[in-house]
Amino acid sequence: MYNLIDGKKVSEHVREEIKEQVTELLKNGKETGLAVIIVGNDPASRVYVNNKKKGCEQVGIKSYEYALPEETTTEQLLSLIETLNSDSKVDGILCQLPLPSHIDENTAINAISPDKDVDAFHPINTGHIMIGDHSFLPCTPAGIMEMLKYYDISADGKECVVIGRSNIVGKPMAMLLLGANGTVTVCHSRTKNLSEVTRRADILVSAVGRANFVTADMVKDGAVVIDVGMNRNGSGKLCGDVDFENVKEKCSYITPVPGGVGPMTITMLLKNTLTASKNHLN
Ligand code: NAP
Repeated sequence: MYNLIDGKKVSEHVREEIKEQVTELLKNGKETGLAVIIVGNDPASRVYVNNKKKGCEQVGIKSYEYALPEETTTEQLLSLIETLNSDSKVDGILCQLPLPSHIDENTAINAISPDKDVDAFHPINTGHIMIGDHSFLPCTPAGIMEMLKYYDISADGKECVVIGRSNIVGKPMAMLLLGANGTVTVCHSRTKNLSEVTRRADILVSAVGRANFVTADMVKDGAVVIDVGMNRNGSGKLCGDVDFENVKEKCSYITPVPGGVGPMTITMLLKNTLTASKNHLN
């Protein structure tokens, strides 16, 4: 019998804690602010930005939106980031990705002051994660660790397998599981005999971006399965990487899509913004 990991429930719980602390800061005269930059007209980015602003409202964080036209140049974007870096009402800066192809994403990310980098993408912050001494954690992997903690699932001494090695999910996920004393294997498109590796996993995290990629034969009995994927199936419905209906029966715990990892990602952005605000107060 499997247990569902309810990302919405954990998210609500964490947001309550964030709201209390944001209110406490406000009592001490410190407002918490997040600047959200969106460049161009990508509809998916607009949905993400709106959800982030809604999340801010829910916990009492003030959000400032900077919507720039598609033809914005790298120089114009860098100039805005520079202004926000020195704006004391802004604790966190989020630059919604992807940016239009004529803007170099790394240049933009690197321009954000590390103490306001609430996505934790800046090389200084990724370096801190590597050595286990960090202010901000990247939102999706941090959300997963928070869900594991909520359900009392320990990675200590466990075989952990992460499928995917992106800078925003796979690599930092591996670092956080390693930091929690897991024995971690990272798989990618060149991994040989993938299902042999995944079948060893006590905790299996899939961040590939392909519907029905993780099938029941790839999963060990009693495994914890975390599905990061956000895909559309044949009928256009949102789904993860995992063949949920067939995999769930083998699991001790499993995240659904939607309602699993997704809700936690924005919540951890709010948590990072709170951390930045506390750091700025000090
Ligand atoms: P990405 O940058 O495209 O990385 C995908 C990874 O999957 C790569 O490392 C790739 O390996 C690996 N891969 C591809 N085919 C494979 C195969 N046949 N066998 C093993 N590994 C394979 O994607 P991402 O940004 O990490 O995102 C992954 C998924 O998570 C997407 O669906 C994305 O939408 C979703 N996502 C969800 C959230 C959320 O909040 N729920 C947040 C972020 C991302 P190579 O490196 O060898 O190419």
